[in-house]
Amino acid sequence: MNSQISKLVEAAQKARNVAVITGAGMSRESGIPTFRGPDGLWKNFRPEELATPEAFQKDPALVWEWYEWRRQIVLKAEPHEGHRVIAAMEKFFPEFLLITQNVDGLHPRAGNRKLIEIHGSINRARCTKCATRFELGSRVLSELPLRCDCGALARPDVVWFGESYDSNLLSASLDFLGSADLVWVVGSSGMVSVPVYLAAQARENGALLVDLNPEEAEFSRYCDIKIRGTAGQVLSEFWKALQ
Ligand SMILES: [Zn+2]
Repeated sequence: MNSQISKLVEAAQKARNVAVITGAGMSRESGIPTFRGPDGLWKNFRPEELATPEAFQKDPALVWEWYEWRRQIVLKAEPHEGHRVIAAMEKFFPEFLLITQNVDGLHPRAGNRKLIEIHGSINRARCTKCATRFELGSRVLSELPLRCDCGALARPDVVWFGESYDSNLLSASLDFLGSADLVWVVGSSGMVSVPVYLAAQARENGALLVDLNPEEAEFSRYCDIKIRGTAGQVLSEFWKALQ
């Protein structure tokens, strides 16, 4: 067995408060494009031109159409073994929290309930006026833009470029990480600073940091345990070894 994995198993056997932070790499393994870079093009728009409050103000139907196209891709994808292990970890450890950047809903579909979707969810809408949130279900939405029962426009319940994070979600994450003893960063390239920031906070509070990514990232040097590989393969190997 990989020596990093045996180190990890040893740490997990002692851990009580465990957090997992996941990023786009997790979703990519389920075949979901990142919607960034050349991957993200739709009708010749770049994500930066659509995922903004300004774009929504200018053309809400266009923005909704794009999200609905993405949502249908996501609904056809399936959680992989890595998602399933993280769902099992929630039941295994006395205290557990999953913080994900992913908006695709694959973690809740795999069974995670103690989770914070820090960027929101593509499967939810939020009223721009009364802030009511509603689940979108699996049927294709044909009447776009979507409206709330109150008559006002609804928007995808996600964090757009130029918007700030929900401060309640951020402080709930930091609260948990303040007492976490084992924190994983999975499938996050470290390009987006929030997971790195959260992980750094946890480490300052004494948590052991695990970096599970196919490639070395900038924050890797701050991590105690580094494992190179895909989330699906490494997590299932870890899980088998832990049992
Ligand atoms: Zn409303």
